[in-house]
Amino acid sequence: MQHNLYLYNSLTRQKEKFEAISSPFVGLYVCGPTVYSNVHLGNSRTFMTFDVLFRYLKYLGYKVRYVRNITDVGHITTEFDEGVDRIGAQAKLEMLEPMEVVQKYTVYFHWVMEMFNNLPPSIEPTATGHIIEQIEMVKKILDAGFAYEINGSVYFDVRAYLEKHKYGELSGRNVEELFENTRDLDGQDEKKFFADFALWKNASAEHIMRWPSPWGEGFPGWHLECSAMSTKYLGEVFDIHGGGMDLKFPHHESEVAQNTAACGHGPVRYWLHANMLTVNGQKMSKSLGNSFLPHELFSGDHPVLTKGYSPMVVRFFMMQAHYRSPLDFSNEAIQAAAKGYKRLMTAIALIDQLKPSATSGFDVKEFTEKCHSAMDDDLNTPILISHLFDGVRVINSCAEGKLPLTENDINLLSKVFHSFVFDIIGLRKETATEDQSQLVLSLMEFILKLRREAKENKDYAASDKIRNELAEMNIIIKDSKDGTDWKYETN
Ligand code: AMP
Ligand code: ZN
Repeated sequence: MQHNLYLYNSLTRQKEKFEAISSPFVGLYVCGPTVYSNVHLGNSRTFMTFDVLFRYLKYLGYKVRYVRNITDVGHITTEFDEGVDRIGAQAKLEMLEPMEVVQKYTVYFHWVMEMFNNLPPSIEPTATGHIIEQIEMVKKILDAGFAYEINGSVYFDVRAYLEKHKYGELSGRNVEELFENTRDLDGQDEKKFFADFALWKNASAEHIMRWPSPWGEGFPGWHLECSAMSTKYLGEVFDIHGGGMDLKFPHHESEVAQNTAACGHGPVRYWLHANMLTVNGQKMSKSLGNSFLPHELFSGDHPVLTKGYSPMVVRFFMMQAHYRSPLDFSNEAIQAAAKGYKRLMTAIALIDQLKPSATSGFDVKEFTEKCHSAMDDDLNTPILISHLFDGVRVINSCAEGKLPLTENDINLLSKVFHSFVFDIIGLRKETATEDQSQLVLSLMEFILKLRREAKENKDYAASDKIRNELAEMNIIIKDSKDGTDWKYETN
């Protein structure tokens, strides 16, 4: 495969030229969501990042098998396994069957993925659908001497592993350092060593999710599912494994250890980690209470949002940051993205109407190469977007008759824009409804501006008139020190 794609490999901490193990085939595994709650905007960022990678590899001509799992059992609430299973805990809380919890949040996840125009993966395996494979892997690790059984649970033996291999290579953490950061285990812990992690957990009498195993009834540990399912569908060594940065430890580190223990070598050639979406500099996370959900962003119905944004504006916003940089969410930043997205779409719609000239005042070939180089440089979407805006200026100048383009160049430009904007970064034109809701938002902004000006001019009759007429249409406006909010009340 002729290409020049470089990816930042977390394992070697450098950009490396991407070479597929069996070109043109590429195996890509990405950790999917734990479906015990709705995916938030932060999770969505990570899935968009790997969607762009999937799209770009396909664009380069690779045949990609993209596996993204659904974690529907085994994700424990704390780092060192003393907690409870998230799905089971949520089932109790909502008084639902665990599989109802799984179904409910999987449906939302799929809806969000579609709204953001993420392509579906080739395989979407569930942890509960691969219990047999996971049990087989535990047996292999036990046979190799890197795990021990106690009270119907099986733990990975980190100290035994450390005698032959490194644990911490991927995340850069070492066990001593970890120990200092960990509170003392109370005497009740059955593990031999604090960093040991569960491969299989014995199910207590009240535990709902349980399966028979050689060690009694229980359920698999969280890290195990990704090792078992990636091996099953992509082989013992595969090309790329992705996930959010926060999964490096303990999740991915433990995956490496499990695979190495079971097969004698690490599983992955390129480890890719996506950086976090933050709010006021803090990671967006459900437990910190600063997360909001994609549908709240689309409707604007959330206290921190001044209005709603279409899914494509949100996607464009995400693409303006490099995936390895943190991205801070703010109303201002997303408003700027809305303008940028609109400018881009307007220019693309203009391309087909451009009038060709006999000569060209712009080198489209060089422009195309620049776009490729940006993506080849570890998927640098912000640089790509800055090039695309150079192209937007060219399109607009040509439309105004200020810059000539040949017919051939116009066709080429159209092709490049379609490839990079629609196929690679995965934007799409907004639907008529989305377009109209954006129009409503802009009109409301305009009306509220008129009212603000009326008030500033002490023309209270006019400002009250605007408020009352809007109320007639069930649009309720509310003034606060931060500005004016409005709401359309449907009942
Ligand atoms: P989880 O369902 O918690 O396993 O998370 C699903 C994916 O979202 C993982 O790859 C996480 O690393 C990622 N993730 C979680 N929080 C954020 C965030 N604030 N920004 C970006 N990605 C995140
Ligand atoms: Zn995983």
